[in-house]
Amino acid sequence: MSELPIEPNLIYQSDQANPDQILANASVSEITQGIVDEYYLGVVCSQRQDFLRSILPRLRNDSKYQQILNSAKSSSPDPLLQEVFQGQPALNNLRRQIVHDPANSDDQLLELLYKHLSYKPAVNQQRESIKKDGLSFQGTSEDPDFDDVPRLLFRVFGVETLARALVSGVRYYPDAVIIPTDGGNEKQFSRAEFRKILDSLPVEAAIQLVNRKVRALTSTVFNEDTTSFLPFPVILFAFTDSDIQNIPYLSKVDTRKRMRIMKIGTVCHEIGHGLYSLSLSSKTLKEWEDISASEDRPVTEYVKRYCDNPDLRQEEGFAESVRLRVTAPDYLEDNFPRVANYFTRNFPDIQPLQK
Ligand SMILES: [Zn+2]
Repeated sequence: MSELPIEPNLIYQSDQANPDQILANASVSEITQGIVDEYYLGVVCSQRQDFLRSILPRLRNDSKYQQILNSAKSSSPDPLLQEVFQGQPALNNLRRQIVHDPANSDDQLLELLYKHLSYKPAVNQQRESIKKDGLSFQGTSEDPDFDDVPRLLFRVFGVETLARALVSGVRYYPDAVIIPTDGGNEKQFSRAEFRKILDSLPVEAAIQLVNRKVRALTSTVFNEDTTSFLPFPVILFAFTDSDIQNIPYLSKVDTRKRMRIMKIGTVCHEIGHGLYSLSLSSKTLKEWEDISASEDRPVTEYVKRYCDNPDLRQEEGFAESVRLRVTAPDYLEDNFPRVANYFTRNFPDIQPLQK
């Protein structure tokens, strides 16, 4: 019998059957580090430098911008201001900065207005780009659950909704299990490594670790930090080890098809984040707030993780509702008719997966 190879960076020794210790010893995720370098350093930071250097000085002297901002103090504020202050959750970071840092509030107000006004041109540009070149997909074609996802997204969402969510495509890392740590770093495992770690842990600890796994990264986390809105891909990680056999909305789905429905639903969930944070006006946002406050239970079990944070619960509830709207429309209609009705009225283009 040959000896088992010993890996230098062995992370699942039995004397380490403790998730915190395992995470402390694991390597920092190269994938998430690469994403941070590509998007934050490459796009978000360089955009901000450009904004501070050349755009902001111009806005300070722009009479149209000044006129709109001055109207805030008048008896008839410009209608745009309501959207700037109450619509588009993706503007929340900037709005909070204004409250926390009143000394710089004039410049931040200009940035808020500039960013809000950048949304429509970004959608127009993305619509043309999708029509001309489609969306970009990486890593999906090798997974039989995902090989039809390019066509499927067009059929389910349509060009207009995809453009409004500012989605540029899907990037899928099927073998990467990413676990965020308390220290702020993400640790990375292969699926096989992760499986061995789970097997070495007591059942409760294994479940907790699986629940910490990053399933996907929404494109809107980048847009929260940009100075003007841009399209970004939905980023997906490994799906293995997801417990999908006891999910109520999948109970009528053939057991062999549940993983596929779960995966497609996760893409829909992420697109839902885009629609929520970018495309909601003050009116449609308020309506969603009222509906989610009036429901006595969350649309899926997943949303319960956010029960302590009303903002996140509201956003995750929306993203999960987009998932159900596409992958389990009858379940949504039967159990959450007000939610189903909200989507019929405000997002009539979204179609069910099965027809
Ligand atoms: Zn989410």
